[in-house]
Amino acid sequence: MKDLSRAYCNFFSGRTAYPVFHRRYGANDAFRYPQGFKIDETGKQIYLPGIGFVKYRRSRYIEGKAKNITVIRKADGWYVSIQTEYEKEVPVHQGDEVGMDMGVVWFCTLTDGTQISPCNALKKHLKKLVQLQRALSRKEKFSSNWRKAQREVAKLHQRIGNIRQDFINKVALDLSKKHAVIYREDLRIKNMTASAAGTVEEPGHNVAQKSGLNRAILDQAWGKFFQRLEWKCEQRGGQVIKVSPQYTSRICPICGYESKENRKSQASFECVACGYRGNADVVGARNIKVRGQRMSACGEFGEVGRAQVNRRMETVHGAGQQQE
Ligand SMILES: [Zn+2]
Repeated sequence: MKDLSRAYCNFFSGRTAYPVFHRRYGANDAFRYPQGFKIDETGKQIYLPGIGFVKYRRSRYIEGKAKNITVIRKADGWYVSIQTEYEKEVPVHQGDEVGMDMGVVWFCTLTDGTQISPCNALKKHLKKLVQLQRALSRKEKFSSNWRKAQREVAKLHQRIGNIRQDFINKVALDLSKKHAVIYREDLRIKNMTASAAGTVEEPGHNVAQKSGLNRAILDQAWGKFFQRLEWKCEQRGGQVIKVSPQYTSRICPICGYESKENRKSQASFECVACGYRGNADVVGARNIKVRGQRMSACGEFGEVGRAQVNRRMETVHGAGQQQE
């Protein structure tokens, strides 16, 4: 009932499509026990109401009080996920502030020049995946060979997902340890990766290019990365601040001149007005940081343009002179 309720809530708030029934060979088979389960002292058995004692392998110790348990079927077996509750003191973070620019060539670029290369789990396994999917399509549906082939496809998907998850966790942990405040672009991934083909009335431009970009963005799982990063930073007393990404890639960090011309190529930035040259991704990260700091200094959220800030400074200045 909880899952059904959430499915409808997600649908009515426009986040997801209309709920569908569970499929017999669906990928995510899961159920939850809000109470009544028991975990054996030795950590080798778990008691699930209605099923009884089940052998299990403990991957980590349980910290705090176990609140509920979810049993999930994945391609290679059954997993249990135990939710716990405990008090934890949040420390004060001693790290610095940093701006972060997301990209496809580099997963992310920081203001200090650090660049992290993407893991591209799907890209690496795409050939194998296509091969397995082709084998599956040749089998007679619902036959036992078809089922076997389907398991192989599911296993590869799980492997790709695991590699991606591992990469995300490592990067998020590393960043959350080093930096107290991380400014990131407020990207709408859903809009960014919307079908490039467009509609019949309004066909899209550069369809092949964009669908390649979409796949790259989805493969890198930015959405999951941001979630993880926020959570990790919160635990360490850090903070992630979202900043409007408008024109961050084409504003000069030295003189503030904004033009499409500044961006000569994908990788390099050259200001038309003052001649400043630099790495385009680092420039993006610097602009994000500056905008984020200005936003938090003004106590204002949303888009703050350079002109607006200048005007406000003038009025404050003017008022001071009148008092004198
Ligand atoms: Zn310039």
